[in-house]
Amino acid sequence: MFGRRFNFLTVAGIKIGIDFSWFLIAILLAWSLAAGYFPHYYPNLSVGTYWIMGVAGMIGLFVCIILHELGHAMVAKHYKLPISQITLFIFGGVAEIKKEPQTPKVEFLMAIAGPIVSVILAGILYLLTILGQHSFWPIPIIAVTGYLALINIILAIFNLIPAFPLDGGRIFRSILWWIKKDSAWATKVASQIGSGFGMILIFLGIFSLITGNFIAGVWLVILGLFLQRAAAMSRSQHYISRELHGEKVQKFMTQKPISVPPDISIQEFVDQYVYHSYHHLYPVTENENLIGYVSLREVKLTPPENWKKLLVKEVMVPASEFKTVSPETSALQALDLLNQTEVPILLVVKGKRLVGVLTAQDLFKLISIKLELEGGRPF
Ligand SMILES: [Zn+2]
Repeated sequence: MFGRRFNFLTVAGIKIGIDFSWFLIAILLAWSLAAGYFPHYYPNLSVGTYWIMGVAGMIGLFVCIILHELGHAMVAKHYKLPISQITLFIFGGVAEIKKEPQTPKVEFLMAIAGPIVSVILAGILYLLTILGQHSFWPIPIIAVTGYLALINIILAIFNLIPAFPLDGGRIFRSILWWIKKDSAWATKVASQIGSGFGMILIFLGIFSLITGNFIAGVWLVILGLFLQRAAAMSRSQHYISRELHGEKVQKFMTQKPISVPPDISIQEFVDQYVYHSYHHLYPVTENENLIGYVSLREVKLTPPENWKKLLVKEVMVPASEFKTVSPETSALQALDLLNQTEVPILLVVKGKRLVGVLTAQDLFKLISIKLELEGGRPF
């Protein structure tokens, strides 16, 4: 759901990245602190000092959001839920987990860990501010710690709004899940409430715009749209998992896929396969047995002057290095695997024999046809 991002830090094996929207918000935030907030509460300082305070406040907030997200990530890690990455975007951060929590307890603990970190940070920063006031620290330092204490409380409160998929909504869902023992129902109810909150925020935003409170209005509308969209996404995810429940890979896979022999050159592979069938990835087989795959990536990594010299088997990714599924694997498990791996395709084997390939689109095609026939409107 995010646009362009780049990674800048790795903590405990978790990639932390910034979405480009964050730069916009960082500049806006530093400016509003330097030109509005700090001069209002701490008058008679120089413009340069206000800007240093503004930038310090912005960076401080940035660090606090990362710590909040690491709170979620550490609990996830403890329960062996793979966290792929943390992305900081316009409203803070999102820790992306590749698998949903197994039990309501895990979901609850994971969701509440972030706000707990924010509250602890607020407490520490508040104590620092008090200490600074008693020890006569320079005003700019006290101002920044005081601001960060306040913003961490706001962060905790905002995230605790019971609108799925915000932390509060996840907590709410875990409680519903625990009471009724039905995670699908809990997701449905929690995301409906999330989208209801989104609607309320949009209306409040439009009301603010009409009554002349422009900045607050724009913020509320953006926030409301964000909540609506996130709720719709979790609803569709829930629908997909309901439809795939109990189904097996063989129902969805493409049988008799095109496969490549290991002893042709890369040049031959490109001419005879890539330019003919336009796939991104090809299984490599020897006597019908899967021995690896070769994709556009391996071709691109090889300098073109070597294409005639090197054979497919010399550049392919050997079968020992990636996961395969069997026709009997459950479709949901396959979807999980597709989400976890970087290649968008799963190779289906029976023993060692290649029997099919499976993509996420294969899984969704059936769902969309079913929808059309049954006239359902899940999203
Ligand atoms: Zn959070």
